[in-house]
Amino acid sequence: MPTHWYQGRVTNIQKLSATTRQFTIQIENEDSIFDFLPGQFITMDLPVSEKRLHRWRSYSIANHPDRSNVLEFCIVKSEDGLGTKYLFEEVEVDTLIKFKGPDGGFVLPQNLQQESIMICTGTGVAPFRSMIKYIRQQSLNFQKIHLIFGTRNAEGILYKDEFMQFAEENPNFIYDVALSREQHSAYHYGYIHDIYKQKYAEVIPNRHFYICGWSKMIDDVVANLLVNMGYDKSQIHYELYG
Ligand SMILES: Cc1cc2nc3c(=O)[nH]c(=O)nc-3n(C[C@H](O)[C@H](O)[C@H](O)COP(=O)(O)OP(=O)(O)OC[C@H]3O[C@@H](n4cnc5c(N)ncnc54)[C@H](O)[C@@H]3O)c2cc1C
Repeated sequence: MPTHWYQGRVTNIQKLSATTRQFTIQIENEDSIFDFLPGQFITMDLPVSEKRLHRWRSYSIANHPDRSNVLEFCIVKSEDGLGTKYLFEEVEVDTLIKFKGPDGGFVLPQNLQQESIMICTGTGVAPFRSMIKYIRQQSLNFQKIHLIFGTRNAEGILYKDEFMQFAEENPNFIYDVALSREQHSAYHYGYIHDIYKQKYAEVIPNRHFYICGWSKMIDDVVANLLVNMGYDKSQIHYELYG
């Protein structure tokens, strides 16, 4: 089947931190609902190159499926990155963006009667926001979800109020933030690794780790879990941004 390309109109751009923005897109000219699973991503075709494959950039959908045909993306400006230069410097409200999808198997676990440990840095939080918003909206029961979010300083914490509110509402949701470059009384000072290594040193079968972000962080988490801590690879799931 030929790829179906959608057209989305940017309806809002919100600054989330010094380097991160949330882009909201309304899908246009579609009679059907753009359905997706919480955690999936789409691929944008950005006008940054003559060559088709050089124009494609993938982004996790940061909101949950609600049949509204509105999608949110949480995107960090990368240094010298062509795609994000376009998104941050050219795109404005009303800009049209072509995209395909949804794709990806990094989705909300079917079995929520397990411990789900979600580990991310920066915009790697996007698929977890989608999953957690979905759980909240559907009032799904879950045994335990622990979101561990890492960034350099407090200014870079993404969607803090939403996660804190959910943690207040639901004792089975635990929210921890690790700041690597700033000491702050409310947060852990150091890296995400300190948190899961300390809390999950004892291996149990009914615990799964979901990791999202860039390769250095994912490689380190996977090595720690597999080699140093003794988890089985079937318990480790990740989405690699690059
Ligand atoms: C599944 C998935 C989900 C993602 N979700 C998010 C998200 O939610 N938020 C977020 O901030 N980032 C996300 N990313 C990362 C995102 O896709 C981009 O890599 C990132 O925004 C940097 O893009 P850039 O164009 O600014 O950087 P660039 O360095 O210009 O490009 C990054 C990537 O584009 C491709 N590319 C660029 N130029 C060429 C070329 N000449 N030839 C071939 N390929 C080229 C390569 O794959 C390269 O690694 C995700 C990545 C993946 C794979």
